[in-house]
Amino acid sequence: MKKFRFIILGAGPSGLTLAHSLLDRGVLRSEILVLEKETTAGGLCRSATVDDSPLDIGGGHFLDVKHADVLDFVFRFMPETEWNRHERVSKIHLRGQMVDHPLEANLWQFSKETQVDYLEAIAQAGCVRSDPTPESFATWIRWKFGASIADDYMLPYNQKIWSMDLDLLGTYWLHKLPEVSFRETLKSCLEGRPFGKLPAHGVFLYPKEHGYGEVWRRMADALGDSIAYGISIESVDLGTITINESWRADHIFNSAPWHHWLRWTDIPESVASDIRELRNAGIDVDYVPETFDGQAHWIYEPAQSLAHHRKLLRSNFCPGSCGYWTETNSVRSVSTTGWRHTNPYAYPVNTIGKPERVARILEWAKANQVTGFGRWGTWEHMNSDIAVKSALALGRSVA
Ligand SMILES: Cc1cc2nc3c(=O)[nH]c(=O)nc-3n(C[C@H](O)[C@H](O)[C@H](O)COP(=O)(O)OP(=O)(O)OC[C@H]3O[C@@H](n4cnc5c(N)ncnc54)[C@H](O)[C@@H]3O)c2cc1C
Repeated sequence: MKKFRFIILGAGPSGLTLAHSLLDRGVLRSEILVLEKETTAGGLCRSATVDDSPLDIGGGHFLDVKHADVLDFVFRFMPETEWNRHERVSKIHLRGQMVDHPLEANLWQFSKETQVDYLEAIAQAGCVRSDPTPESFATWIRWKFGASIADDYMLPYNQKIWSMDLDLLGTYWLHKLPEVSFRETLKSCLEGRPFGKLPAHGVFLYPKEHGYGEVWRRMADALGDSIAYGISIESVDLGTITINESWRADHIFNSAPWHHWLRWTDIPESVASDIRELRNAGIDVDYVPETFDGQAHWIYEPAQSLAHHRKLLRSNFCPGSCGYWTETNSVRSVSTTGWRHTNPYAYPVNTIGKPERVARILEWAKANQVTGFGRWGTWEHMNSDIAVKSALALGRSVA
């Protein structure tokens, strides 16, 4: 039996950052153990070499530049000089045309006839007419964007990415979508230019010579044998805080999906039923060796006729590479003989009632000396920069 002050479950960006944050605050290496089920670190941010170039096996991953503390931390392991800075070029493939993302700021790029269709839809949208805010996802999307943008793009795209009944999704997370103003959109169409703020990743960083996984690999290397790989957790005794009858801790930090806990320990039925209700979407990443023309870094594909919902044109952000990869919800994937990586836990799904369920799960966990953090510990659709920011703060708060 080995005893630690902190055991961290998961060596993704959250677990790795938390371990470093604790070390930075004076916790000893011998007091920390990170348990990882895979044989390598990095979680969804891992990369592989495919066709002689890097490929991000969890889907397209780019580092946002908004948070200085996150960049300082990341640059400790991969200096700024090893990253390229890109002005984001992302496209939506719609009505046989490639237009810039976000759609509502770039309607001016369509034919006059399509502009009129979409402008008419926005003019009649519930939010523009100050109708009450709907509570179901599909109705909310129509209320926000108007019928034709919803039916051509937002609903088919969301149907593809979630591959579930969209009305099981809540609307509490949609505040992240931009405001749609009929006046601004009309002005943009008349003047033939975009309007509004750039979305997340307006500028992003991507390694010059590696995939996105390299920085997490280095971060893990720096932790040495504080990480144990290929670990299959069979049991957690919450009375003694002991994992697999081998590792005891004062406290567990969990960044692994809560569903696993149902197998590991006895959980009161009210909490277990909350855990069972948590939904996740799986994503298959497929490599296509042909190089796709155009300048885009990635392309959104709402057409139902294509299984995938996004193409990642790596030749436009990975110097010297060819080919592209696609992201497809695993439910929609068709079998392939090509290179594929399946991520069963890719997206936490924002179902109705999820925030309340997660709050109850975290409360039960806290009472048992377990803290949920990261994408799966909080069931939040956070990007890796936010995973780092939150784990840095968590480390500061406990040590
Ligand atoms: C398609 C897609 C695109 C994305 N694009 C971007 C992007 O462009 N930029 C960006 O910043 N972020 C992006 N993200 C988000 C990013 O992947 C996450 O923010 C980040 O990976 C979260 O880190 P995490 O450590 O919390 O979770 P994860 O990366 O999921 O890591 C969890 C870790 O826990 C381990 N684990 C799971 N179960 C167990 C178990 N039973 N025992 C032990 N260990 C376990 C896993 O193997 C994994 O290593 C994207 C995500 C997806 C799916």
